[in-house]
Formats: sequence, structure tokens, C-alpha cells
Amino acid sequence: MFCPKCGSMLRPKVVRDKKVLGCNCGYVADSAQSTVTFTQKRDDVSKEVEILEKEISVHPIVDEECPKCKNPKSYFWSQQMRAGDEPETQFFKCTKCSHQWRGSK
Ligand SMILES: [Zn+2]
Ligand SMILES: [Zn+2]
Repeated sequence: MFCPKCGSMLRPKVVRDKKVLGCNCGYVADSAQSTVTFTQKRDDVSKEVEILEKEISVHPIVDEECPKCKNPKSYFWSQQMRAGDEPETQFFKCTKCSHQWRGSK
């Protein structure tokens, strides 16, 4: 499976004790492949995404050019991808076209 946003390969990751397929850009796939009580899980996943989107909208805006549409402003935040064993990853999201990418550091 590939990310519909940036085209990278999705990797399994754990969000609040649930295994999901996610992408480095922050995209998290619906766990539609799992056959276990999926309606309930679907609800949880969409809630998770809503919260994520809300959080993104209040991130500070920085002078970082969008590689896609060249808009000079983007939201900035950093996130721990895995518990403890990796440094924080920096993320940017275009204020105009909502394209997301990772920082170089
Ligand atoms: Zn992606
Ligand atoms: Zn853009």
C-alpha cells in the first residue's frame, strides 16, 4: 500500500496501542484490512484523524517554501515517530495546498 498524499510506502505503526498503516508525512490509513470488529475501530480512527487535523491547524506558521506550489508559508510541528528510539521528526504543511513534507534535519 502507498500513501495517497505523497506516494511513499506505508509502514505499520502504533497509534494509541492500535496497529495502523501510516506514512512519514503524517497520513494514517483506515485499518480496513482488519476483519476484527471494524465498525468500532473505524470510528476510533476517524476520531484520531479529526484530532490530528485540529492540532495541525493551530501549529505556528513559518517561512518554509512549499516544494509543490511554492507558497512561502507553512505550518510547522515536530513529532516523535516511535517511542524513544528515534529523534523527533520535523514536519511542514503548506498553508495553501495542504501538502505535507518532512524537514531535512
Ligand atoms: Zn505520505
Ligand atoms: Zn503548497
